Amino acid sequence: MSRGLVESLPAADYGEESIVAATPCLGFSDFARSVAYGAYRRSGLMAAQECVACWRGREAVAVVLFHRVTDEIAPDGLTVSTAWFRGFCDLMRRRFHVIPMAEMQRVLASGQRPTARSVVITFDDCYRDNLPAARVLADYDLSATFFIPTQYVGTDHAFDWDVGLKRMPNLTWDDVRAIAQLGHSIGSHSVSHADMGLIHGDEARYELLESKRVLEDRLAMPIRWFAYPFSGAANFRPVHWPLAQELGYDLCFSAMRGFVQPNAQGNILPRLAMPPFRSLAHLELNLSGSLDWFYGLKRRLSLIPA
Ligand SMILES: [Zn+2]
Repeated sequence: MSRGLVESLPAADYGEESIVAATPCLGFSDFARSVAYGAYRRSGLMAAQECVACWRGREAVAVVLFHRVTDEIAPDGLTVSTAWFRGFCDLMRRRFHVIPMAEMQRVLASGQRPTARSVVITFDDCYRDNLPAARVLADYDLSATFFIPTQYVGTDHAFDWDVGLKRMPNLTWDDVRAIAQLGHSIGSHSVSHADMGLIHGDEARYELLESKRVLEDRLAMPIRWFAYPFSGAANFRPVHWPLAQELGYDLCFSAMRGFVQPNAQGNILPRLAMPPFRSLAHLELNLSGSLDWFYGLKRRLSLIPA
């Protein structure tokens, strides 16, 4: 998780694709940005930029990261509303290529270039609203991977960062099985949501191995993917990746921002945390890589510091 992304998400004017507002007021700068994003898309510039990226072999996979999908608390850096989430799913169905984690792993292992606009959807932290979110995804015929901190399944444990919020229940093991039966996949998020940057040797091995063992035992399926808790480079040690491989993990994820490049296998893979987006137009520009291209161009032109 990351607490640095706390940002309200007023819905913006996105023509026929407007979504229900997360907050009732849309500031002028948000409105102006939204109009600019929409104009960029409708002008064909976004499509042209993506064609150039494809021609240059720059296709990458966007692995998006959710935590909570609920109307019980206000949207924040870890929470999207159910209406926002349905808007996201609709956008994914119409304009992106959502692939299961196993397919991304196959593409990375094969050395193939991913299909343009490929997206992998992930969830962390085992909030109980993940089960209805999994059903919504299934309604849209989309699959996702849910990373589970095993110690908290079926408990009323609240994370430190949720103190003061309305109580957020956790998934039960029946819920996790129901998510898997919907066709989604499951990964490990450690045993205790440990900060892997602070632990060593046997403790790290325990968090990696015991969570895998418990999930495989409870779900009767192989667990091949690990998302390390917290978000930064300081929350993981380089030595943990070979250890994770030794213990049977194929892919390991951070929440550090970035796209998964075709040559990325063997590294700790980045993800794009949701929801730092003011509108679906903003989201589409971000997941298509257009915003990264735009900011990269500004950097090259020295319009913003490197
Ligand atoms: Zn987490």
